[in-house]
Amino acid sequence: MTKKLCVCFLIWLIAQANAQTTGLGGVQVSFDRYQGPATVSATSLEKFKLRVQVERMGESQPLSVRVELPKSGRNVWPANDVEARDEAGTAMLVRRSGIEWENLVVPINEKVSAFIVQVVEPSVPLPRSTSDKERVIQDVTSGAQVRIANWPQGRTAALSIRFDDSHPTHLSKAVPILREYGFKGTFMVNPGPKEPGSRQNYSFETQHAEWEAVMKQGDMELANHSAHHRGAKGDEDMEREIGGAAEAIWKLNPGKSKLTALNLGGGTLWETTRRLRHYLDKYHQFDASSGSLGMDDSYGGRVEAFRKALQTHLERGLWCRVHYHYIGEGLSSSEANFRAALDIAKQHQDKLWIAGMADIHKYQTERSSAKLTLVKSDANSLTFQLDCATDAALYDQPLTLEVVPPAAKVEIKDESGASIATQLIEVGGARLLRFDVPPRDAIYSIASKP
Ligand SMILES: [Zn+2]
Repeated sequence: MTKKLCVCFLIWLIAQANAQTTGLGGVQVSFDRYQGPATVSATSLEKFKLRVQVERMGESQPLSVRVELPKSGRNVWPANDVEARDEAGTAMLVRRSGIEWENLVVPINEKVSAFIVQVVEPSVPLPRSTSDKERVIQDVTSGAQVRIANWPQGRTAALSIRFDDSHPTHLSKAVPILREYGFKGTFMVNPGPKEPGSRQNYSFETQHAEWEAVMKQGDMELANHSAHHRGAKGDEDMEREIGGAAEAIWKLNPGKSKLTALNLGGGTLWETTRRLRHYLDKYHQFDASSGSLGMDDSYGGRVEAFRKALQTHLERGLWCRVHYHYIGEGLSSSEANFRAALDIAKQHQDKLWIAGMADIHKYQTERSSAKLTLVKSDANSLTFQLDCATDAALYDQPLTLEVVPPAAKVEIKDESGASIATQLIEVGGARLLRFDVPPRDAIYSIASKP
């Protein structure tokens, strides 16, 4: 009995030394690639704030502490807003992998015995989410209904098709094939430029004129995959890798919204004292790292996996994201498999909004923070107000409104009295008007036409 207890205690002791998990809301703290004798533990100070303590047992070498934050579920941390500070309050250099921002590795020297890991509220607050009820007006007086459509043009779900790592086959295969189907692709590029002392060439840089031509045509989207796909060492390098790539993309979209999808790339390491939020806000990027179905043939059964994923997203009315690397025979995705997936998307095209990642992110963010309010109504007319919480310079994707009209023949006007073009749809015998409006605060009126 005693012996058994002893063994249990020993196992518990080892577990405690290697990783502390209890009482921290799913946060795990351990040494990175080190077993001790030093010990590491953590204390929760408040929600999203904990103190990590390290007790050295004679070790004098630098150690690294790994802090793994829950990625999903009830206790999920907003990983992009997390930083580490030492006891003097100085921001510490934290290492993370490009697509696992919730896992922090904090290198500490001999002098550090404790540090704080915490969430800092974004300086640019995220727009408040409105409720479903706030996005619909059900007016008894006129009998009209106004709502913000889930997706543009009455589509059921959205689909983005992404291509990573700037490969020549994006121009030779992906763009022309997507154009055959009439689909928009999102190209996550590494714009370089070639670094001194490196032999690595960046195809986006060497094929810049071709990309310029694609962007002039306006049917494809570019996204930020960092300048060189090599991670970053330090804050200045982070700025160059994220900001440099963002600027290269903006140059090809003169006068357009700067909002761009960002994915720092798998297999890369990033060291910075700052939160990812700093870079996202400064360069008008949004985090597009997660929730995407990898379409490389090496994963096996990709066409079927895509069919299933698309079906699920259609059933739930959600945004389905997929990503490719290189397209062509013997490359990450064969042309046949690529086309087979596009054929499936084509079959569902009437229900799918196939768009760029920034387009979809914009619509989602605009809609989820927008609000409709009734201004006035009578038996045959209705005036309502649209309120948008997003920055119109960045969020410029038109919102689709759907109206069950108060009379057989109506006219919809904006504040200036200009008539708005609408599309009439018959759904199960009922008539529905659909029209697009800019995502800005505005007043609209619907009145019966004599
Ligand atoms: Zn990549």
